[in-house]
Amino acid sequence: MKDRAYPVAIENSRLERLTTLLKKNAGKSRLFVFYDANLYALHGTRLRETIGESHPEHEEFIVPSGEKHKSAKTLNGIYEFLLDRKVSRNDFILVCGGGVTSDLVGYAAATTLRGIKFGIVSTTLLGMIDAAIGGKTGINHASGKNLIGAFWQPQFVFGDLSFLFTLPPREFMAAIGEMAKYAGLIGPSMVTKVSAFLSDPSRSQLKTLQELILRCVEYKADIVARDEREGHLRMRLNLGHTFAHGIENGLGYGKLRHGEAVTLGLLAAVELSEISGVTSTDTLVEYRNLLQQLVKTLPVRALDSAAISQAMTLDKKRASHSSRYVVLKAVGKPIIADNISSKQAALALGKMIAFYRVHGGTGAKNSDRQRTKS
Ligand code: NAD
Repeated sequence: MKDRAYPVAIENSRLERLTTLLKKNAGKSRLFVFYDANLYALHGTRLRETIGESHPEHEEFIVPSGEKHKSAKTLNGIYEFLLDRKVSRNDFILVCGGGVTSDLVGYAAATTLRGIKFGIVSTTLLGMIDAAIGGKTGINHASGKNLIGAFWQPQFVFGDLSFLFTLPPREFMAAIGEMAKYAGLIGPSMVTKVSAFLSDPSRSQLKTLQELILRCVEYKADIVARDEREGHLRMRLNLGHTFAHGIENGLGYGKLRHGEAVTLGLLAAVELSEISGVTSTDTLVEYRNLLQQLVKTLPVRALDSAAISQAMTLDKKRASHSSRYVVLKAVGKPIIADNISSKQAALALGKMIAFYRVHGGTGAKNSDRQRTKS
């Protein structure tokens, strides 16, 4: 993928960098800009001004917010908007929003006229560290999340910390779950840094936050550059995700944010790493502490292990690797284990649920308070 390398800029109150990226990548092309509706209400004016610096004549489309709009219906509205305006392959699409909007509009860019160039302005923490990176685009289907999609790499990704100030605290904290996944994959120093950030996630730590985001981006970009289409290497990015998808599915979508389910999934993956004998009980202590610290910030939900196991079995059938899980030999040393029994997975799930039942929820209000203080 080296020939398709693109810049990822995560700035701190430097929107003018977006103008530069647009001038360089969209030049004299016609520009179509798609905004997440909530983002538009909060940041639309300054984004429109910034984009106007390079493309005064650009056209706008407001995408309704929320996972349920990552759908064929909204996609069709985008196709109509573009085709009504006689879009050409020389035009450029810019999407501004979180993962829902960048997945959806990215897929529209991938499929309209067999591919139009696009750029992403990522405005959520989850978007910056994960969804905007790696070129996976798509929509949901009644049968499940992200089942329709394409690989389509953007020309650039731009994120700015100033967007994160208006993010609902729960969205912000949920994304730290995804950051904790990267910490488990990257190594002990990242675990220490995320733990330290978590103890005071306020505006005084913007520099640290920027560094943490960039480290996640760097890690994912490196993996994707070497394995764009989810061969063996990219699979490690699924650490905790088999459990997380099972939890989201078993609970019903929307009860927990994706990143919250990932936190629980990671704790189950730690349990599984020990149960399967891949690692010893004292190796993952610091990582377990970080995850347990995060679990305490999650809202309480009653998890039904039978429903989760059933959802995991279905997920596994689709992937046709019933006994494959990402586990940790140590922090920073992920392994794709192909020989995990359903009994071992159920045991790991049960241990995680027992911890969550006792400790979950107590810190949810605290995390809201911490995030809003500045
Ligand atoms: P999201 O896009 O729904 O954004 C979360 C909420 O924040 C929404 O209500 C949105 O309107 C609002 N919002 C966005 N920016 C804001 C801002 N600056 N201030 C205030 N509110 C703002 O959700 P998300 O967590 O960013 O992304 C989740 C999606 O990403 C899921 O659909 C998931 O499947 C997808 N995803 C994709 C990949 C990938 O590789 N393509 C990876 C991970 C997740």
